[in-house]
Amino acid sequence: MSNVAPGTGWPGDPATSETPVAGTAAQVRRLARTAAAEGLDEVDARVSVCRACPRLVRWREDVAREKRAAFRDETYWGRPIPGWGSPTPQILIVGLAPAAHGANRTGRVFTGDRSGDWLFASLHRVGLARLPTSVRADDGQELIGTRMVATVRCAPPQNKPTVTERDTCAPWIEAELGLLVEHVRVVVALGGYGWDATLRSYAAIGWDVVRPKPRFGHGAEARLVGGDREVVLLGSYHPSQQNTFTGRLTEPMLDEVLGRAAALGAPLR
Ligand code: SF4
Repeated sequence: MSNVAPGTGWPGDPATSETPVAGTAAQVRRLARTAAAEGLDEVDARVSVCRACPRLVRWREDVAREKRAAFRDETYWGRPIPGWGSPTPQILIVGLAPAAHGANRTGRVFTGDRSGDWLFASLHRVGLARLPTSVRADDGQELIGTRMVATVRCAPPQNKPTVTERDTCAPWIEAELGLLVEHVRVVVALGGYGWDATLRSYAAIGWDVVRPKPRFGHGAEARLVGGDREVVLLGSYHPSQQNTFTGRLTEPMLDEVLGRAAALGAPLR
């Protein structure tokens, strides 16, 4: 099987067989705009059935069919990964894209791979996740005052979406951000890709994005302003195996950034 059919009982599946499917970039723009008028659940539902990027649709479904040996007895989700967590978050975590055998398998962002193991353990230590692990869509995990999104919603080969794929997917994160913006006080960007995507997405919804562009770094902070609202953008190295195996990112380093996010987001939690 190449993917889970919408509305067939997968835990947390936001879509049904009636959910409209975007097949082109123009359809993503239109369906994201009209979904935003209906609310976050509809954005999540439409994201989760999108087929607008031919290369990524083929890849995510090939991976879901062929599987990794360790997961050969599991059904893979094989669809785009919607945002997950609180619908009214004070803290938003922005990553790059789902992992082929992680979220593309489990159907939930950062769930079922090594990066997620690091991220959820740290979120739990700083009080933003109920459990220290995140293994399946029905494992009982909950984020506290926090939501996670991927910039590009389908698993890309080598973890590298093209610029066209990134831009095709952008209306989804922009629609989501537009609905979350009244709640979010802190954005944690994982890696330079998440940092740039956050700046682009806030600019797209009409916020003043500082010039020159704030530089990404681990522990970097920038303030974004939109009318009378302000958000603190925090940078963290991505908890990829490349960073965690080499010691570029350590547990205390990740805890420091997420702890700062928890402290800044705390007054309204
Ligand atoms: S990457 Fe985004 S726009 Fe492209 S198919 Fe996946 S969800 Fe749709």
